[in-house]
Amino acid sequence: MRTSARPLPQKTIGVLGGMSNQATAEYYRLLNEGLNARLGGWDNGEIVIVSVNFGNIEHFVRQDEWDAAHRYLSGKVDALEQAGADVILCVSNTMHRVVEPIMAERRTPFIHIADPTGEEIRATGLTRVGLLGTMPVMRSDYLRARFKDRFGVETLVPADPEKETIDRIIFDELVRRDLRPESKAQYLEIIDRLKAQGAEGVILGCTEIFLLVDQADRPSFPMFNTTALHTAAAVNFALAD
Ligand code: GLU
Repeated sequence: MRTSARPLPQKTIGVLGGMSNQATAEYYRLLNEGLNARLGGWDNGEIVIVSVNFGNIEHFVRQDEWDAAHRYLSGKVDALEQAGADVILCVSNTMHRVVEPIMAERRTPFIHIADPTGEEIRATGLTRVGLLGTMPVMRSDYLRARFKDRFGVETLVPADPEKETIDRIIFDELVRRDLRPESKAQYLEIIDRLKAQGAEGVILGCTEIFLLVDQADRPSFPMFNTTALHTAAAVNFALAD
């Protein structure tokens, strides 16, 4: 890959962002850092970001308006393709519910957020892990079935009142990068309960959660950070021949 040719040949990463803007900022940082770590010098990413209005996303998710979300995000994927994206990433686990079917009809390669995470879990030999995310991620099957069917990974989700706590903290705090010690304590209690119920690790299945809790909080309990794993997969893709 290293070459003196300028401009440097590399793929353009298309980021469907804004869900939230805080997650998107982390994607931008991690993609550039990951590419610079591989390329050295002053090289980093060629990235196009289409950042949506999170107010629309919050409305679609909480009002269960998935058809409207599908139409809205289809238009944003058009914009990324027109801007020259060679591969598309969606920064929201939640919105994969509609982005996966949108991308199934396109030719532009798509890295589904569950795939690098599922690969990493499988590589560590775990088969039963907790899953934290927004209400649709924990309640519906679209990510859980993918983990099971493609990677043989069973996901355990918290009890209903705990799901509500996890979801509320995402929408009221994390998407605004409002990081509170009491919320961190609640997340860790829920993670500990999942462990007591047989989880061998936990998927941080919402792209802001790692801002609040990370591996250092529970060093011996594997945490799978979807933001880090997704961006690392995109770095590999961008530099592959
Ligand atoms: N970033 C989020 C996720 O990974 C949550 C925000 C949203 O509802 O899109 O699911």
